[in-house]
Amino acid sequence: MWDFETEPEFQTQLDWIDDFVKRQVEPLDHLLGSQWNIADPRFVRLVRPLQATVKAQGLWACHLGPALGGKGYGQVKLALMNELFGRSRFGPIVFGSQAPDTGNAEILAHYGTPAQKERFLQPLLNNEIVSCFSMTEPHGGADPLVFRTSAILDGDEWVIDGEKWFSSNARFAAFLIVMAVTDPDAPPHRRMSMFIVPAETPGIENIRDLTFYGEPEATHAYLRYNQVRVPRENMLGGRGEAFVVAQVRLGGGRLHHAMRTVAQARRALEMMCERALSRVTKGEPLAMKQMVQEKIADSWVQLRQFRLLVLETAWMIDKGHDYKSVRKNIAAVKAVMPQVLHDIASRALHLHGSLGISTEMPFADWVINSFHVGLADGPTEVHKITVAREVLKEYRPSAALFPDYHSVAEHARAWELYGDLLQG
Ligand SMILES: Cc1cc2nc3c(=O)[nH]c(=O)nc-3n(C[C@H](O)[C@H](O)[C@H](O)COP(=O)(O)OP(=O)(O)OC[C@H]3O[C@@H](n4cnc5c(N)ncnc54)[C@H](O)[C@@H]3O)c2cc1C
Repeated sequence: MWDFETEPEFQTQLDWIDDFVKRQVEPLDHLLGSQWNIADPRFVRLVRPLQATVKAQGLWACHLGPALGGKGYGQVKLALMNELFGRSRFGPIVFGSQAPDTGNAEILAHYGTPAQKERFLQPLLNNEIVSCFSMTEPHGGADPLVFRTSAILDGDEWVIDGEKWFSSNARFAAFLIVMAVTDPDAPPHRRMSMFIVPAETPGIENIRDLTFYGEPEATHAYLRYNQVRVPRENMLGGRGEAFVVAQVRLGGGRLHHAMRTVAQARRALEMMCERALSRVTKGEPLAMKQMVQEKIADSWVQLRQFRLLVLETAWMIDKGHDYKSVRKNIAAVKAVMPQVLHDIASRALHLHGSLGISTEMPFADWVINSFHVGLADGPTEVHKITVAREVLKEYRPSAALFPDYHSVAEHARAWELYGDLLQG
């Protein structure tokens, strides 16, 4: 059964989110720095009351399952919510759904001991603390098999040593989840393990924080772990299981991110349309010019196609489709997402002319963000490779000289089926 409708009760909640985000959350984007800087007194004054409103509305951290105090919403509902609060930089944190905390919480929920859950998970879910996922290394990100940061067991402690790159929000984080080589001689995907490292542990050196164009402040840390010691029980999951553990934080989170990208691209399209209708050139609005109409049509179609792909994928997860087919869809979402945002934001920038390219408009930020979404969580090429591999698994090679679908063979089969009737 196919159905593209939203239940009326849930639509009421979506309408509330839409209005709340536009009126009360979006203004924060113009006033505050990093949305992970929860210790900033201005965060406390402005963001905490909005989070309380979201909690009172029953919409806090809806991605969580009932065991963690969430509503257990399916992925389609979560996607539709993210599409609305993804308009704003502060939307996810106001709704208790910001990365990388969501994924890190999933890891802790799956693999943490009761004591670790009490110390880290509960405060993380309440946004009393924020966290960092520290995996990428300076000499390699897209290929985790080249990671060198090591963890060696010394008595009852793991000793972590090495460098990590682009560890976002490390300077605000209460703890870091670190991927390190524990078994260098094991098969490639069994060499690494995952650890919780409390931020105050001696030996964590912040070499510097990086930023990219459009961000309010530098938050992506280049870290050096200098013989950082954590208790044996700080390993999350089994020894050599870092890849399995890392998978836990992906899936749904990738779709939420995709719908936030839809939100940004949609804002660009809205602005493009308003500008096209308002700006008069050579005696008529830009909207009357066919090349401008083409930009608007292409943007709308591209956005609509992408949104449907994301929602179809969310629906497949809700319907319990097997992991393989969902994996192909999720990789496809990741592969196409940067292009959609890049194209629509670029057209909006161009249509606004000099104003569009200026820092007084958000378009350049969004164009750069399209490169961000094409890198964080793996580059586009890697996701395309996954799509292609999964698609090819559905087919078999033919040993025949000519393909089975060769028109000569097709004709012969058709003749065999209907030849008598044609001759008679
Ligand atoms: C804003 C932002 C936030 C991030 N936050 C975090 C974080 O919190 N924690 C963390 O651990 N990491 C984080 N990252 C790092 C991210 O995971 C890496 O940037 C990503 O995995 C790519 O690694 P790399 O940057 O080293 O690029 P490389 O691995 O050097 O890749 C560079 C380019 O090479 C090409 N390429 C790579 N592999 C292939 C291939 N198989 N086939 C064809 N071409 C290929 C692609 O064009 C790719 O963009 C973040 C990155 C960004 C941009």
